[in-house]
Amino acid sequence: MAKIFCVANQKGGVGKTTTTVNLSAGLAKIGQRVLMVDLDPQGNATMGSGVDKRQLELSVYDVLLGEASIAQARTQSDKLQEAGYGYDIVGANRELAGAEVELVDVERRERRLKQAIEEVSANYDFVLIDCPPSLSMLTLNGLCSAHGVIVPMQCEYFALEGLTDLVNTIKQVHANLNRELALIGLLRVMFDPRITLQQQVSEQLKGHFGDKVFDTVIPRNVRLAEAPSYGLPGLVFDASSKGAQAYQAFAQEMVERIDRM
Ligand code: ATP
Ligand code: MG
Repeated sequence: MAKIFCVANQKGGVGKTTTTVNLSAGLAKIGQRVLMVDLDPQGNATMGSGVDKRQLELSVYDVLLGEASIAQARTQSDKLQEAGYGYDIVGANRELAGAEVELVDVERRERRLKQAIEEVSANYDFVLIDCPPSLSMLTLNGLCSAHGVIVPMQCEYFALEGLTDLVNTIKQVHANLNRELALIGLLRVMFDPRITLQQQVSEQLKGHFGDKVFDTVIPRNVRLAEAPSYGLPGLVFDASSKGAQAYQAFAQEMVERIDRM
């Protein structure tokens, strides 16, 4: 059965999508069977995996509304497959923004994704879910489906404060909706060791969260930022870049953590 993880942080632009696509690619490269689910109407994880969100025949929207199974909606990117980084993709686009409203009257609406993933779980080692920058019904569907949450964060002044809401939400979902849900870890991203404040916040994080802080640190690296415009994860775009190497190391760290879970 797959291990299922949400990549979540209600703060925008902190590196959720970059983490989701590069972790997916990194895990695929080391032989893991990966399904990536884009739960953000922005569709950035879809585009960044080489799938055109405007051309999707079926998306996560159809899955949430019960109109398609994941087996029907999943797709792949030829470029990633050829490069040896291939993973399955359930894409998203603007249409998904309507799901929130359309699900209002649906029973157990926060568990739609969970049910859909259960049907294909045996086919994968990892399912990674890219969440939107909010604590919405979409994110709730992600949290209800998952065993754990991976939280990418920048080591900035307000970083710890912003974490409180997310940690409380995880606790509430754990108590009321999904007993399996755990905070797996905090991933320091866009890190610049020359900035003293970032080092200080990083130390604070370790003080507060201990081994919930991943060992791997993702540096700020322009190759990671350039990759999406080519429809590629940074790992495929330039495997030798510092950013790509860090994400490959993170994939390895995740596999080792799973073995200990
Ligand atoms: P949103 O909340 O809008 O979904 P997000 O949390 O998914 O955003 P990303 O889209 O992954 O964040 O990243 C935000 C921006 O920062 C993007 O332009 C991305 O290319 C860039 N970026 C992410 N990680 C890095 C990094 N390690 N080094 C340099 N740029 C990065
Ligand atoms: Mg994103």
